[in-house]
Amino acid sequence: MHELSLADAIVSALSKMCEDEAWGKVKKVRLRVGALRQVFPEMLEFAFGTVAKDTPLSGALLEIEEIPLEWRCLECGNRWREDSGVCPSCGSFKRETLAGMELEIHSVEVEER
Ligand SMILES: [Zn+2]
Repeated sequence: MHELSLADAIVSALSKMCEDEAWGKVKKVRLRVGALRQVFPEMLEFAFGTVAKDTPLSGALLEIEEIPLEWRCLECGNRWREDSGVCPSCGSFKRETLAGMELEIHSVEVEER
């Protein structure tokens, strides 16, 4: 399960930071996840809750901000959001991904020790 390994990576990275930075408990974690990552938020929250047991992240709230897909046409510069392979304005296939690939810890709230 994709979400479980993701939750595992988040918890181990943040547990290590807790030690390094001498944080108390982590209260809240905010994630930014792009649509292209195909993460199911409910499954990730569940996996996170399970993996976080017996770590400084136990009981922490996971907030997931979903970033919609955004493309930009390399021919005409048009930007669009639908999951369409071609530019709706000029029909070109040449495009770049502006948003939707995000997978990052945006911020954390911690209790001072
Ligand atoms: Zn175009």
